[in-house]
Amino acid sequence: MPELVFFAGTMDCGKSTLALQIQHNRSARGLSGMIFTRNDRAGEGRLSSRLGLVTEAVEAGEGFDFHAHLVGHLTAGGRTDYVIADEAQFLSSEQVDQLACIVDDLGIDVFAFGITTDFRTRLFPGSQRLIELADRIESLQVEALCWCGARATHNARTIGGKMVVEGAQVVVGDVGGAGASGEEVGYEVLCRRHHRRRLTAATARAGALSPEVLPVDGADAPSLSRG
Ligand SMILES: [Zn+2]
Repeated sequence: MPELVFFAGTMDCGKSTLALQIQHNRSARGLSGMIFTRNDRAGEGRLSSRLGLVTEAVEAGEGFDFHAHLVGHLTAGGRTDYVIADEAQFLSSEQVDQLACIVDDLGIDVFAFGITTDFRTRLFPGSQRLIELADRIESLQVEALCWCGARATHNARTIGGKMVVEGAQVVVGDVGGAGASGEEVGYEVLCRRHHRRRLTAATARAGALSPEVLPVDGADAPSLSRG
């Protein structure tokens, strides 16, 4: 029976690496895959992993119709034995419905990979629909660790090094992205305890180095001027 499988996890949990591994194993057995992604860190039309592996992919942007794309490909004489959809958290719920149609109507396995919750701990729409529809959900959270060593279950967004809990759901940051203020947007995985306390690795390190907060520029600060 063909299946819709949702591989779910945090950032950094090895989703894209596993997607590439599945593709490798199946193409080694002579199977042909159709790979989709959206907003990949390597740019449009590419699926990449943090380990440096990259493969060609179809960019599935807003309004893209997965089912129609597959039907067009098959009608033109193309062959597809399985589908991989990476960055599936960014998909609309309609697009996830299309993935289910590919499984049910075309008899093709679909492996979707996505981050479950956003930096505010809320489900992404694509991930929510996948949880509702998937035949099987594989949790990949085991591989990502918080700075404290506990299992990292939550995604944190940082702007200029500070963790934030408000803002647009999707800001493609990682490295080089910039927030509204022009400061760099980054992401970090944390355990729930440290997500709730907004303690990132950098904040924890800074706290350990300077246990006392020294007054600077305040009225009570000792004057350093010699004049
Ligand atoms: Zn932690």
